[in-house]
Amino acid sequence: MLSSFPIVISGPSGVGKSTICRCLLARYDDLGYSVSATTRVPRKNEIHGKDYFFLDRPTFNTWIGQGKMAEYAEVYGNLYGTPCSSIDEVLVHGCDVLLDVDVQGGANIRKIYPASVLVFVLPPSAGELETRLRGRKTDQDDVIEKRLRLAGEELRHLPFYDYAVVNNTIEESVELIRNIIVAERCRRERVLHRLACANSALRNWVGAAISKPVDTVK
Ligand code: ADP
Ligand code: 5GP
Repeated sequence: MLSSFPIVISGPSGVGKSTICRCLLARYDDLGYSVSATTRVPRKNEIHGKDYFFLDRPTFNTWIGQGKMAEYAEVYGNLYGTPCSSIDEVLVHGCDVLLDVDVQGGANIRKIYPASVLVFVLPPSAGELETRLRGRKTDQDDVIEKRLRLAGEELRHLPFYDYAVVNNTIEESVELIRNIIVAERCRRERVLHRLACANSALRNWVGAAISKPVDTVK
């Protein structure tokens, strides 16, 4: 077990997931990003290897066959997947890793990494979601309509997420998600795990004490 953990960011298309992830990564160097692979065509300004690994379908399927994908799913008519290396390279450096994946990906990541933390990002309203999706000016009308139609279905996965953040302003959402990450790092089991890896007097003292726990919460 590693003390660093995956943080899954899911939510309907256009809600602001990639904007929030970009801000978190720019601000905090103890976080890394899991670069996904996709068969979607690149948008203007998207960079291969930074935003996504842009693959054709045969290559995507080869990666699956070679066991390179931790998870993958068909989303809005394209394939998207998390290469195992994209997560593991960040975790082994002791950083927590942000994943911008859909609700199917969220469920699968939780199965593979039970220690992962799942955050669902909500829009302030359905109307504002549409405004943001159209305002981004990256997708054709039929693509936007498909994504809006599926938003209600995606919301049905909210009960399986640990946290929900309403993305009113970017600044507020970045602060809230940072707070979630900091609180998760303070979970007793993560702190004890870090302590167990350390060679300190505190480890021995705490270790001896908690080998005989007192349960007063009956
Ligand atoms: P997603 O990654 O969830 O599909 P994006 O991060 O691409 O969404 O955001 C969609 C659009 O909404 C972008 O143009 C972005 O600048 C804008 N946006 C994101 N968050 C907010 C916010 N809190 N307020 C206003 N606009 C936002
Ligand atoms: P977009 O085309 O807007 O970049 O992403 C479309 C959807 O695919 C978003 O919901 C995004 O979270 C999801 N997605 C991106 N990468 C992955 C991935 O690796 N796995 C899964 N399951 N979904 C992903």
